[in-house]
This record gives sequence, C-alpha cells and structure tokens, in this order.
Amino acid sequence: MVHLTQSDSCNISGVIPTDHPSDLAVEYPIVEIFHSVQGEGYHAGIPHVFIRFGTCNLRCEWCDTDFLTFETKNTIDILGEVLKFDCKRVIFTGGEPMLHDLWPLHRLLKARGYNLSVETNGTIPVPEGLIDWVCVSPKDQMYPNVRLEQRRGDELKCVYVGQDLSMYEELQQGFKHIFLQPCYMETESVEWNGKNFAETESIVKQNPSWRLSLQTHKWMGVD
Ligand code: SF4
Repeated sequence: MVHLTQSDSCNISGVIPTDHPSDLAVEYPIVEIFHSVQGEGYHAGIPHVFIRFGTCNLRCEWCDTDFLTFETKNTIDILGEVLKFDCKRVIFTGGEPMLHDLWPLHRLLKARGYNLSVETNGTIPVPEGLIDWVCVSPKDQMYPNVRLEQRRGDELKCVYVGQDLSMYEELQQGFKHIFLQPCYMETESVEWNGKNFAETESIVKQNPSWRLSLQTHKWMGVD
C-alpha cells in the first residue's frame, strides 16, 4: 500500500497543489480497494477500481459482503491505493456508499480525471453532480417498508427473487438501462443457482424491456 502524508505533498505526485487540505484528512470505513473487471450490468467487462465501503443500512439475505469488517482509512491512503492501478474508472460500492459524504473523494478523484460510478441501494439520494454513473439496485422486493429515495439514474439493476416486475413500472421511467439479475447465493448449490438463472432468463424473455445481468465475476471466482 502507498501511504502519502500531507507533508509529502510537495514531492509526491499523489497529492497536487489544488487539493484542499480538509479533503485530505477525511476518513472512511473501507472494506477493500481492488482493481478488477466489472462483472455485471451495463459496464460488464470493463476494468474498474472498486472502493468497497463498510456499513449498510439494510441486511439482504443474499448479501455477500462482510461490510462490518473494515478499516478506517483517510483519503490520502485511499488515493494512494487507487493511484497504484493504471485505471481511470472508479466504482464506489459497499455496503452502502451513500451513507458517507463522498464529496471529498469526488474532488480528489475528479481533479485527477477519474470517472466515478456508484452502486447504491437507493435509500439515500445521490447529490446532483457527485457521480458520473448512478446504478441503483433497489431492495424493496425484500423491504416493502423501505422507501426508495433515488428514483433516477443511469442503470436500474434488480435482483430477481420471484417478485412481480410491475412493481418497477413507474421506477423504470427514471433510468436509461434496466437489468434483471438472478439471485446468486454462494452458499447454495450449482443446481439451486442454476434454477434461479433459468427462471430469470425466462422472465426476461417474457419482459423484453429488461436485460439479463449475470454476476460473471462470481462464476469466474474473482472479486
Ligand atoms: S443493500 Fe447491498 S450491501 Fe446492503 S445488505 Fe443489501 S446487498 Fe448487502
């Protein structure tokens, strides 16, 4: 890991003169930062740097992220890790990234030419101008009492657990790309997951305004 300090700002290219000092001291709960190929949704197949934040305001049964195990890192350390990779696309994911004030990271990364995406459960609004690509993965099929606040964006990605897709009719209008994804559970058998895949494929054939999204990174055994 590359550790930069504010005192290094004159001679290390990671920190630039336009960086605001208060942005460099902000801390976030970070599960992991890694470079991988996006495995699902509209940007599947495109390399990104993933910043996985700790904590979430929901508890989905299929969640595969240990979002309660994290380190507190400041933006200088986060920036140092991101800069190690030859990749100008960053995805904020989680946990639920919108639980945190992402503006300091936004300013530091945009100043270096990064394209920013977020994957959010949509329960917290995404401020205008914060993110270049907003992907909302609503969980209201599991939590009917949780209000979806972010109802517009670039990509709507729903995990299919047998819900009636008519529940998304109004919501679809706010998004450019609409994906349905089989529920994949690592703890279940190949047959169990295969059945979910077949059901989701069948639903997409009957509802062609939806596109099938597969978590190809899971099948490949990568992050
Ligand atoms: S909203 Fe996402 S991160 Fe939070 S529990 Fe559900 S799947 Fe996990």
